[in-house]
Amino acid sequence: MKSQEIRSKFLNFFEGKQHLIVPSAPMVLKNDPTLMFVNSGMAPFKEYFLGNTEPKNNRITDSQKCLRVSGKHNDLEEVGYDTYHHTLFEMLGNWSFGDYFKKEAIAWAWELLTEVYGIDKDILYVTVFEGSNDNDKLEMDTEAYNIWKQYIAEDRILKGNKKDNFWEMGDQGPCGPCSEIHVDIRSKAEKEKVDGKSLVNMDHPQVVEVWNLVFMQYNRKANGILEDLPNKHIDTGMGFERLCMVLQGVQSNYDTDVFTPIIREIETITNKNYGKDEKADVAIRVISDHVRAVAFSIADGQLPSNTGAGYVIRRILRRAVRYGFTFLDKKEPFIYRLVDVLSKKMGEAFPELSAQKTLIENVIKEEETSFLRTLDQGLVLLNRIVEETKGDTVSGEKAFELYDTYGFPIDLTALILSEKHLKLDEKGFKEELQKQKNRSRSASETSTEDWIVLFEDEAQEFIGYDSEEATVKIAKYRKVTSKKDGEMYQLVFNLTPFYPEGGGQVGDKGFLEDKHGDVVYILDTKKENNVVYHLTKELPNHLNDSFKAIVSSEHRALSSSNHTATHLLHQALRTILGEHVEQKGSLVKPESLRFDFSHFSKVTAEQLQEIEDFVNARIESKLPLEEGRNVPMEKAIEDGAMALFGEKYGDTVRTIRFGKSIELCGGIHVKNTSDIWHFKIISEGAVAAGIRRIEAITNKSVRDYFSENNETYLQMKGLLNNAKEPVKALTNLQDENTELKKQIESLLKDKAKHIKDELKNEITEINGVQFLAKKLDLDASGIKDVCFELGSQFDNLMLLFGAENNGKAILSCYISKELVASKNLNAGTIVRELGKHIQGGGGGQPFFATAGGKNPQGIEVALEAGKTYLG
Ligand code: ATP
Ligand code: MG
Repeated sequence: MKSQEIRSKFLNFFEGKQHLIVPSAPMVLKNDPTLMFVNSGMAPFKEYFLGNTEPKNNRITDSQKCLRVSGKHNDLEEVGYDTYHHTLFEMLGNWSFGDYFKKEAIAWAWELLTEVYGIDKDILYVTVFEGSNDNDKLEMDTEAYNIWKQYIAEDRILKGNKKDNFWEMGDQGPCGPCSEIHVDIRSKAEKEKVDGKSLVNMDHPQVVEVWNLVFMQYNRKANGILEDLPNKHIDTGMGFERLCMVLQGVQSNYDTDVFTPIIREIETITNKNYGKDEKADVAIRVISDHVRAVAFSIADGQLPSNTGAGYVIRRILRRAVRYGFTFLDKKEPFIYRLVDVLSKKMGEAFPELSAQKTLIENVIKEEETSFLRTLDQGLVLLNRIVEETKGDTVSGEKAFELYDTYGFPIDLTALILSEKHLKLDEKGFKEELQKQKNRSRSASETSTEDWIVLFEDEAQEFIGYDSEEATVKIAKYRKVTSKKDGEMYQLVFNLTPFYPEGGGQVGDKGFLEDKHGDVVYILDTKKENNVVYHLTKELPNHLNDSFKAIVSSEHRALSSSNHTATHLLHQALRTILGEHVEQKGSLVKPESLRFDFSHFSKVTAEQLQEIEDFVNARIESKLPLEEGRNVPMEKAIEDGAMALFGEKYGDTVRTIRFGKSIELCGGIHVKNTSDIWHFKIISEGAVAAGIRRIEAITNKSVRDYFSENNETYLQMKGLLNNAKEPVKALTNLQDENTELKKQIESLLKDKAKHIKDELKNEITEINGVQFLAKKLDLDASGIKDVCFELGSQFDNLMLLFGAENNGKAILSCYISKELVASKNLNAGTIVRELGKHIQGGGGGQPFFATAGGKNPQGIEVALEAGKTYLG
């Protein structure tokens, strides 16, 4: 059975059981700050489990892209070494939100596996939770046990501990026991030797877990106590690639048709065969896995970068490059060449891949190129470290510096050192790494207390599109403590006019006022799993009162102005640069806006001017805001709005139209484009290969910008004696300056010649060497000229010159090549030694070397000491 068919059979099976098929959510969730990447099928549905949002159907089925490379689930280091863990994988799931429970979940899982897919039940094992005696004191899941008993022999039902059979979303939140389904795909002979039962959950590559059925029935509070959930849920996750392995009768996920086309391509490019050499095999698995993770995340809008999620993606790609570099001997970029097969293979199920193929290729290629360059530089640095190493061990600190500052991978360092018969102080390296981890952890650590509910409120209404003010009540609040912000409170209202950060736009600020006139400031507004919360430094005194909640008008007006400008800018870019332009991210705050978009070359100055004019023309046309709420998605697309990759949309959407610009958008906008006042581009540049960034300002910032510029202009004009034509006056000044520089240069040359003649007379002979040590009034290059000119007239000359330049000392030494050999003199050694007198150091060649130092007072002593070399 082909993988495509396996996937659709799953979805269709559950559709037949009244489940709604939904597409995979993007891998980076904008709505959940606790998670860097979606790491399980349930992550996009958290708000349903938490009861914050009503699901559109209480039965859902999907195939979710998951990435397990950070946080609680991190399989990165295993990937490549085993045959069944990936970074990116698909998790097939069926979901019940307060609807069916264990009985149906188990019955359907069984029916699907054994009847639809026809898996022999003699290769299956299941597990149930055995109960726990720790703080939670939970009983065994006999309910699940008794249901399984109807389908599978009891000796195939195994009891498992809390680690394997009790699933928790995080430290807090919904949780419950689970039942895993394992397959044993070993050969008959092997099965006879070792009982499959004993291999379940033992990391055996052919006895693996394929499906996990989670029965969510508890909620864990911040204090650790479990309480019953009012509604019980089903959350299941089946590893798609592992299922393909079973159904295609192969022994490794990498031998399924999900991976073989990519592996064939790697073989062609690298001239290596998969299955011949274990080291190369690991590398091939690593690369075929990682290219998927990186390509999918770029398609979802998460580009490799220096921080956060982008940095994790960069590290995954670098891991792939490193394995190719070390074990497949690939010293030039090649991973980007795999994107083509990948998009052919997966593009149907995940159209975002084929739609953005070129962008993905460009980004990967550029990343590969720059990392290969880093590897080259790293090798040079490593060689230097090796040269400087005394003894047989390279210090952990040095290796860490190479790793941390230059991104040079530690295992490569270890490998190279072992080839040179040197050891690496791994303990020291680990200590440095730990120190760094501690530093970043303590900076980001936050602790969150339970919500304190003041009154139960089903719907927290958002009225911010229509008002900036409302009378509100606090429904619940909680305290959050972090190193960065100290103690803060998150307040949730029954209704709110405050816009929560989202869609690139910052959250509203403002204040709460009670009837006594007491005020509490709202410093920011955010949204987590669909709950809008307001951040304050303190709690209001009368929590149960009603409050006036007032949004800061200016803050909002300026952000709105920039937000609307990004829409006009987007329209301008697509009109002027072409339809290939797609939004790749934006940041809208009161002071300025930032807009990232796909485009393959620098935007020229003329184009930028055209873009600016285009936007300003629409500002001058005074286009009114036309807002559509609850517009069916198809209608919006028909009207010309564009869905962005990496965004999650509902069935109905909000549309924002200004003239011919129409976008799907949840942000706050001006009522009329004339409110923007003016649009000015401040910068244009590259963010990554194929992604450009424009920064711009509007409104008050433009006024400030113009008045500051004008101020500077007037000052400059003043400095030019209020010349009528300041540009001309400045050009004249510059010309004059160039002319003067030329004159000085020629004067200096004359001077040097003069000095040279004088110096020649001062040379004395010591032990057969023509010697002169002297302080000169020249710069380093002047001294060098003098040395070489004098040098050309003697063949037994030693010169030592000192000079003071801008408070710093220089010391240069020249020695005729003949002397270097005959008297064993070395200018490099001499300046290094004499450099101590000027508190500095330096080096160079045996016949000419220079040292720099910070102590000009030492020059005379150094010159005096020069003689000793001839003694
Ligand atoms: P394992 O113990 O094998 O790592 P898990 O307990 O981490 O699995 P779950 O978190 O229960 O797995 O995820 C549900 C299913 O997703 C698993 O049964 C498995 O089929 C699949 N799965 C989990 N992690 C990976 C991975 N890194 N690569 C591929 N499939 C995976
Ligand atoms: Mg795991």
